[in-house]
Formats: sequence, C-alpha cells, structure tokens
Amino acid sequence: MYVQLLAPRDGYACLTGSSANVSDQSESMMTKKNSAALLARAAAVIPGAVNSPVRAWKAVGGETLFIARGSGAMLVDADGNRFIDYVGSYGPAILGHAHPEIVAAVAEQAGHGFGYGAPTELEIEIAERIAAAIPMARKVRLVSSGTEAGMTAIRIARAATGRPRIIKFDGCYHGHSDGLLVRAGSGVMTLGVPDSAGVPEALAALTRVARFNSLAAVERYFLAEPREVAAVIVEPVAANMGVVPPATGFLKDLGDLAHRHGALFICDEVISGFRLRYGTAHEMFGADPDLVMLGKVIGGGLPIGAVAGRAELMDMLAPAGPVYQAGTLSGSPVAVRAGLETLKILARPGAYERLEAASARLGGGMAEALRSSGLKGCINRVGSLVTPFLGVEAVRDAEEARRADTALFARFFHAMLERGIYLPPSQFEAMFVSLAHRDADIDRTVTAARESLAHVARS
Ligand SMILES: *Cc1c(COP(=O)(O)O)cnc(C)c1O
Repeated sequence: MYVQLLAPRDGYACLTGSSANVSDQSESMMTKKNSAALLARAAAVIPGAVNSPVRAWKAVGGETLFIARGSGAMLVDADGNRFIDYVGSYGPAILGHAHPEIVAAVAEQAGHGFGYGAPTELEIEIAERIAAAIPMARKVRLVSSGTEAGMTAIRIARAATGRPRIIKFDGCYHGHSDGLLVRAGSGVMTLGVPDSAGVPEALAALTRVARFNSLAAVERYFLAEPREVAAVIVEPVAANMGVVPPATGFLKDLGDLAHRHGALFICDEVISGFRLRYGTAHEMFGADPDLVMLGKVIGGGLPIGAVAGRAELMDMLAPAGPVYQAGTLSGSPVAVRAGLETLKILARPGAYERLEAASARLGGGMAEALRSSGLKGCINRVGSLVTPFLGVEAVRDAEEARRADTALFARFFHAMLERGIYLPPSQFEAMFVSLAHRDADIDRTVTAARESLAHVARS
C-alpha cells in the first residue's frame, strides 16, 4: 500500500531518471555552486554554518551540501543533485521524506493552530498508543527532544534513589546535557572526563563510564561506590558509535545488576524505539528497564522526545510529584499528530517485515561488496540500522570502533556521494533504511558500494 502511494510522486520518477549516468560523473561534474554560496552565507550568521555539528562534515572533509527537499528515499540538494538518502534525518524518517499521509495530517493539524499551552486529546492518544506498545511504559511524559528525555530520566532516577551518580557506556550518546556528555578516557575505569568545554568537572565526575558489552566495570563501580549510583543508562542497540549490537545476555544481566544494587535501569530507545519493531528494542533482548527514553520515530520527523516507565516513577514528575520538568512546546499538537500518524502506519501488517527485507538486502549486498574489494572491514546491522566499519574485523564496543580507518571511510563517503548515495558523514553513525527504500534503490546503493570500495581499495 505504501509503495503504491509513493510510486507516482515526482521524487521517484526523477530518481530513476538520474540514475543512468550518475556513476560516470567525475568529481568535477557534480555542481556544488549553490551549496557553496549557502555555506558562505551560513558561516557568517550560524556558528560553524550548521545547527548540529555532524552536519558540517568535519569527519569526512569537503563542504557540506545544503538540502532543498526530500521525497521518499531521495534528497535533492540546492544545486539539484539527487541522492538516495541513508541519513533519514538521523532516525526520524522511517517512512522516508514527505510521506503523503503525514504531510496531509500535519497540514490539517496546522490549520487548527500550533499549540495552546493547554492539554489536548492528541497527547492522550499518543501516550495510550505508546503505553499499549510498551508493556513497562505505564505512563508517558512528552518533551521536545531526546536530550530532554535523558535529562528528565536522570532527574527522576536521582529523586527516586536519593543517589547522585550515573553509569553510562563509552560510545553511547544520550543527548547533550552536561552530565551525559561524558565518555571514557583511555581505560574503562577512567573517571568521568567531560567531552565538551563548559561541562564542569564536578558534574562530569558524577558520571562513570563503562565499556559497552561488558559488565566488569559496572560491577567494580557498584562495589567501589555502594549506594551512590542512581541509574545505569544504555542504548540497547548502540547506534552512536556506529551500530553495535548488544552481546547475548548483556542487557538482561545489566538490568539485574543495577537492580541488585538498588539503582534504576534506563534504556535509551531514542533511536531504537519503534525502529526495530513496533515498540522497544529492550524486549527483544529480555531486558527489564524502569524507564525508557523515546524520540526520533515517535515524532514522525518533527521535534519530540518522551520518557516512559513505571507509574510510581513517572508520577514523581510535577505536578503529580516533586521532580520539576516542563516545556513550552511539549506535546506540540503538530509534532504529536505527525508521530501518531507515523505510528499508525508502522502498526500496519508487514511494515517491519518489509523494512527488514530491504535492510537485509542492503546489509548482505554491502558485505559482499566489501569482500570483493579485498578491504578489511565488517558490516554491523541490527534491523534497519547499518554501519559499514572499514579497516576493522569486528566491532563490539567503542574501543574497537575507534580502531576503524576513518580516513578510508572518508574516501568511501565521497565516492558514494559521487555515485548519488548520501551516507552519514562519519564512520561512527548508523545508516538508516526507511520504508521508502525500494529494491531498486538498495540495488543501486550496493552497486555504488561495490564501485566505491573497489575505487578506494585501488587508490
Ligand atoms: C539522537 C539521540 C538522542 C538525543 O536526541 P535529540 O532529539 O537529538 O536531543 C539521545 N539518545 C540517543 C540514543 C540518540 O540517538
């Protein structure tokens, strides 16, 4: 049904039309004149010319492209270049861009006003829908970003336990709030060191960092600082160091360990929630969190975030309880409507099966392309989250991810771009497959990957 709806749209027709000779184009053939002009204009008024750092292509070099529009699996830049998109707005675009049903719903909702500073029935509907899909999510608080969801979850955990510290994992991202912007230094027992200037050492010191897929450091922290740790927070499927799946039993054992020591277990499902299945990822791995964070997919492309969990914990939030949290635009009717309609489409039979089929086709094709190039590397894939790690045989944690050949990845990124494929501009991000990616798009991507990997292997 979805493919039928999108097939006649101009984006798809144009995409097919542009595919014939794209791989013949040499680097100088892609016009970047308008993007270059916009970049210069942006640099004068926007720090670093972008409103979120990874968009600046620092990790891969070259000048970022400005995007004019998206349709289905396709992006069009300011010079009219067309790309098959695997950034997907870093996760929200699970239906592809400008899905006609979402566009119509958002337009209708916008006609009723953008927000009232008063509750709406839509907020109940999305909370009920989330609660119905996630057994542990008895109550839901909406916020405007994943970052806020993380801040709120941590605040609840500290209030509930009366403890100050949190344990997170090296390479896991939970938004840019002070206490969560911390990773390990050289070893897993390293004390919290801020990743960013402006984060006071005193705040960073409340965060302990452990190695993903290992309980050893977590156990040591609990033994060294009993009754100090409020929560352990983890991405059940890590996707911000590139995609790294949890080892068998890791998430279940981690939750049990946290609970044994009186700490809460928080699963950050901002990426994985409603992306890997209709609901959360932690259930796939038998984990038992007290709180989950949501975002990205549940907003259908508009700004949103959510904390959900056990009723007695959620009822600690103001005005029911003593933990303050608020937001002018929380529960924005337009964002909530976009999210609701997205969830309804995802609930239709076969949605995740089709997403898995497209993602398996991509993962398998890229693995084959990697083998035939003779380059060392591996494809990590969990459902529609895919990362080609170059220069390493296996990636199970951040330390192994950091061994990847980022210079090689940068050349691969640009070779793919020349062939009309828009990858995330960093080795340490996931490629996001959407329901708008058709077999023809995937096959073109695999062909481009084969050519690009062969190209970078030669040079
Ligand atoms: C994107 C992301 C966040 C932060 O969400 P924002 O909406 O960008 O603030 C938090 N956690 C994870 C796992 C994410 O991928």
